[in-house]
Amino acid sequence: MASTTNDCARERQDRCPGILRLHEAGDGALARVRLPGGRLGADALAALAAGARLGNGIAELTSRASIQLRGLSEERAGELAEVLAAGGLLPSPAHDRVRNILASPFGGRVGGGGGAGGGPAGGSAGDELAEGSGVVTDALVAALDRALCADAALAALPGRFLFAVDDGDGHVDGGAADVALVATARDPRDSRVRLHLAGAATALVVDAPQAVEVALGAAHAFLVLRARDAPEAWHVGDLPGGARELAAEIGTALAAAVDVPAAAAAVPALGTRRQRDGRLAITVLPRLGRLGGDELAALAVLVRAAGDDVDACLSSGRTITFVDVEADRAATLERGLARLGLIVAEDSGWRGLSACSGAGACRRARIDVRGAAEARAAQRGPDAPREHWCACERACGAPLGAGVVRVVAGAGEPAGATEVVVTRGRGDEVVGSADQAVALLVAG
Ligand code: SF4
Repeated sequence: MASTTNDCARERQDRCPGILRLHEAGDGALARVRLPGGRLGADALAALAAGARLGNGIAELTSRASIQLRGLSEERAGELAEVLAAGGLLPSPAHDRVRNILASPFGGRVGGGGGAGGGPAGGSAGDELAEGSGVVTDALVAALDRALCADAALAALPGRFLFAVDDGDGHVDGGAADVALVATARDPRDSRVRLHLAGAATALVVDAPQAVEVALGAAHAFLVLRARDAPEAWHVGDLPGGARELAAEIGTALAAAVDVPAAAAAVPALGTRRQRDGRLAITVLPRLGRLGGDELAALAVLVRAAGDDVDACLSSGRTITFVDVEADRAATLERGLARLGLIVAEDSGWRGLSACSGAGACRRARIDVRGAAEARAAQRGPDAPREHWCACERACGAPLGAGVVRVVAGAGEPAGATEVVVTRGRGDEVVGSADQAVALLVAG
């Protein structure tokens, strides 16, 4: 039976929503659907479309490559669970909220990082290999999810505990993950991965077949240390001894001077890229990370028509990459995506721009943050740093990273007033409204 919570703030009680535990938001109940590796086939997209239609039709892509369905009701929670389970999105009810596995949307299919400056579809497969390629990670993500769901004890993990599988292309922000498996080489012939804990590299390097056991062993050890030392810990970083203590608990240690993928490419380049196998990967962006139920249904039709192997892969940058597209079907898919209004142009001001749910969806919203972000999109250049707008101090969904611009509304003076804080590496700049924040950023 689903339950409804009243708050998903950082209270010590873990109230993170899932499919079976709804969160009461300003526009009704909200369900968060975990998508290991951010991966969605046609059936899953159709199920999400049906789920969205049980609510107000809004689906949001999250910074963990999950999807939130909004405007739901407790009365229809059972129906929602059935619809999503039919699409394969609830393989283990006990693990509904713990299947948090982030991965690169390309899964090691392309070289050169896939970020800004990566090679377009016009390059040859040989060129891609020469640039350096990631380890193919689909199988590792799937194996990790299966093993997680088969492990009853790990259903006790906090709903925010995050696994990551990084193919080495830099699209996964490993610093956000509690337990990450990171490719040690950008060479598909080398399948070794290194264990990272809370963003810190350890000395433990294993071949891919052992990696699932290592990751789940770290998760078990986290639960042991949590029960012993910090019952309210949600993350490895919340443990008194942090990553260092957890590493020691599993018989390894933190490593010094290890090359890690640059997080700068966390938002993949938009458009079409050639995979190593000659097929294509097409990346698009829903504006401010939102899709409607009708759009989800249309995407399901497009994916089904594009071929049996084609999947949609969400990224932490709120993009959608359609992988394994045969060249002779790419044009039809691209036209269909453009008809849905999805952003495909790399030079768009929408790329790297995100906002929280904001007014109308969250009772805490102080400003029309999505309207302000839309105004901002028209003025941002293609090289603008990643930018996230939040309608209150909680700063939901704000990406990590030194280069991220944050615009956060908060309480000002006198009491009841609102101020907007712009943080962009030059100290906090405080203005009185969202419009002024837009003007400040336009001024440079
Ligand atoms: S940051 Fe946005 S979504 Fe989060 S609590 Fe504040 S208004 Fe709501």
